[in-house]
Amino acid sequence: MSQPIVIGKRKSRFKELAQAAIPGGGNLDLCLTCSSCVNGCPASGISDMDPRKFLRMVLLGLDEEVLQTPWIWWCSMCQRCRRACPMGVDIGALVFMARQQWSRENTPKGIQKSCDLHLEFGNSTGIRREDWVSLCAELAEETRQQEEDWKDLPAPMDKKGAGYYLNQNAKEPTVEPEEMIPLWKILHEVGIDWTYSSEQWDAVNYCMFSGDDRDWEAVVRRQSEIVNDLGCKTLINTE
Ligand code: SF4
Ligand code: SF4
Repeated sequence: MSQPIVIGKRKSRFKELAQAAIPGGGNLDLCLTCSSCVNGCPASGISDMDPRKFLRMVLLGLDEEVLQTPWIWWCSMCQRCRRACPMGVDIGALVFMARQQWSRENTPKGIQKSCDLHLEFGNSTGIRREDWVSLCAELAEETRQQEEDWKDLPAPMDKKGAGYYLNQNAKEPTVEPEEMIPLWKILHEVGIDWTYSSEQWDAVNYCMFSGDDRDWEAVVRRQSEIVNDLGCKTLINTE
């Protein structure tokens, strides 16, 4: 059973900071304590916390507890709470603000490392550019040689002017590269002119979750520059 919140006379500095940063103030004060946000939240109950309780702690001025709970790192930023909330309270944005108060050293290593690798290698598992290029070329060549129906299957890389730019979940080339081939076949079958980038191609941006806006922006900005340089009109993100 969830434990009760213990309060004293406190004023939340964090709440003021968050309200100033979240567009429209995030509607935090409008909470009716109805629990609609709790029901669909995949992080409800973890670390004895849920979105309603977290919000209540912010409103009660429990800054120390709010800024120390590891629960914020379980939030997937899915926005279900906001969509379920009759008052439009933006708890995801509040959680993101709480993450921003954590130092880089204390950010969970899985998130921070994946973000750092993305910034350095263009993907969150740290695959080197030359390995990515040769992996795609080899997989395509193997398929062309072994499957009669796919003798002309392409896996284009840095193709200027392609209509579609394709991102890839880095898990696939890392642990199950053959899983990329069915998508290539579908795109080829329906006549889509597409390309990967050799430089940055990961569909998952872990920097979105680290709480550092600069890293998040750096990944998205570089991605959009590459898409524009290639002249692609549409980005397909496979996540
Ligand atoms: S759904 Fe909205 S109003 Fe209801 S408890 Fe959650 S934040 Fe408060
Ligand atoms: S955004 Fe976070 S708090 Fe809201 S429902 Fe999703 S996981 Fe839960």
